[in-house]
Amino acid sequence: MSLTNGHCVSKETWDHHNKMMLEPLSVNDPEVFSIIKKEKHRQTYGLELIASENFASRAVLEALGSCMNNKYSEGYPGQRYYGGTEHVDELERLCQLRALEAFGLNSEKWGVNVQPYSGSPANFAVYTAVVEPHGRIMGLDLPDGGHLTHGFMTEKKKISATSIFFESMAYKVNPETGYINYDRLQENAKLFHPKLIIAGTSCYSRNLDYARMRQIANENGAYLLADMAHISGLIAAGVVPSPFEHCDIVSTTTHKTLRGCRAGLIFFRKGVRSIDAKGKETMYNLESLINQAVFPGLQGGPHNHAIAGVAVALKQVMTPEFKAYQKQVLANCKALSNALIDHGYKIVTGGSDNHLILLDLRTKGSDGGRTEKVLEAIAIACNKNTCPGDKSALRPSGLRFGTPALTSRGLIEEDFKKVAEFIHKGIVLTLEVQKSMDPKATLKDFVQAMSQGENFQEQIAGIRAEVEAFAGQFPMPGLPEL
Ligand SMILES: *Cc1c(COP(=O)(O)O)cnc(C)c1O
Repeated sequence: MSLTNGHCVSKETWDHHNKMMLEPLSVNDPEVFSIIKKEKHRQTYGLELIASENFASRAVLEALGSCMNNKYSEGYPGQRYYGGTEHVDELERLCQLRALEAFGLNSEKWGVNVQPYSGSPANFAVYTAVVEPHGRIMGLDLPDGGHLTHGFMTEKKKISATSIFFESMAYKVNPETGYINYDRLQENAKLFHPKLIIAGTSCYSRNLDYARMRQIANENGAYLLADMAHISGLIAAGVVPSPFEHCDIVSTTTHKTLRGCRAGLIFFRKGVRSIDAKGKETMYNLESLINQAVFPGLQGGPHNHAIAGVAVALKQVMTPEFKAYQKQVLANCKALSNALIDHGYKIVTGGSDNHLILLDLRTKGSDGGRTEKVLEAIAIACNKNTCPGDKSALRPSGLRFGTPALTSRGLIEEDFKKVAEFIHKGIVLTLEVQKSMDPKATLKDFVQAMSQGENFQEQIAGIRAEVEAFAGQFPMPGLPEL
C-alpha cells in the first residue's frame, strides 16, 4: 500500500471511506437493514393496538431522515451559539407558528417551545421551570392511568426522577367507577398545597374536567399543567375538549395521536396571569422560565430533524383530512368497545370518550400479562395495564387498546368488529391454556405451557395466519422501503 503525498492514510482506504459515506443502508449495513425490514413486516402484518402508537406519514419520515440531523443550533431562533443557522431558524419559527395555529392559539397569549426531545423531557423541563427543588406536584397515579413523569413512586421506592427531585402526592380514580376522584383531589390539595397540578393521562378513557382542576389549582395558588400527550391530535381536531382555556402550561408528545415523529412540545401562557382586588395585574413569566429550563437547563442542541418532522406533521394536523381521521379514531374506538362488550367483556367506565379503552379481565378469570402474551403470539400488539382497584401492580388485570395506529392504515368501524373477534379468540385461547395448568402458575410457566402444548401452538398459528392475512390488506404509511 502506498501513501499518497501528505495523506495520513492510503489512497485505497480513503477511497473506500468516501464510497462508504454514499452507500445506501441495504448495502452499507445489511444487518441493521434486515432488522428494520423485519420490523416493517411486523408492523404491516400485525394489528397495532398500542394506544400510544401511530404510523408517521411518508413526508414526516422524509423530513426526519434529512440533513437537518447534522446541524447544531444550541439556543433559539435569532440567538444561537453556532453559525450557519439561518435555515434552522426559519424551520424552528415555522414549527412554532404551526404549533400555535394547529391548536387555535393567539401568539400574544401563548408561546411554544418546540425543542423538547420527547414527552418525558418536556415534563421535566416544566417542573424545572416552575417548581423549586423538592417543591410539590400532584398528578394522577400511574396505576390509575397517569404517566411515570407525573411524580410516580411506590410506597417502597421513588421510581421516576420527577418524584426524586420533586415531592409528589398522587391523586386517584374511584376504584368502583374508574372515574377520577376530583373531590379527594380537592381535599388532598388543600392539605398538600402543591405548586403544580397535572391534568393528563396515559390510560384513561374519559374526558378530563379541566374547569374543576383549574378551580382546585386556584384554591392553592398552583399552576395547572395539562399533559395532553395521548390526546393532542384529538384536541387539535376539536373532537375532545381542549385544555387550553383552563391551563397555564400544556405539554405534549408529537408521535401519539398527533402522528408526527418522536418529540415534545411545551405551550405556555403569556401576558396577564391574574388581577387582584385593587386591579393590580400580575404577569406571567413562563416564557423565559420554560425556555431556559429546556435550554440550557436540561438539553443541548435541538434535534432539528425532529423539529422538521414535527413541522410537517403539524401542517397535516390543520387539514380537513386530519379532522376526518380523528373522527374515525373515535368512531373506531366506540366500535371496538361495543364489539368487545357484545362478546361479554367488561370495559372500565363502561366505554370511552377518546381513542382508548381499558378491558378488565377480572370477570373472565384472567389478567393482562397472560392475555398480552397470547395476543402477541397471534400478531396483535397491545399492553397489559392495571385496572382501578387492582391489588397488585405485579399482576395487572387489564389490557389497554387504542385505535389511532390502525385508523391511520384506513380501518373503519366494520374492520374493528373483526379486530374485536381476533382479540376474543386470543382471550378464549388464553383461558384454555390457563385451564390446562395450576391456577397458581407463574407468567413464565404460562408462556412455557402456551409454546409447548402442540394443540396450543397449532391454534396460535391458525389465528395468527388469519390476523396476518387481514392486516396485510391495509396500506402501510411511511417510507416505501423502510
Ligand atoms: C407518552 C406520555 C409521556 C412521555 O412521552 P415520551 O415521549 O415517551 O417520553 C408523557 N406524558 C404522558 C401523559 C404520556 O402518555
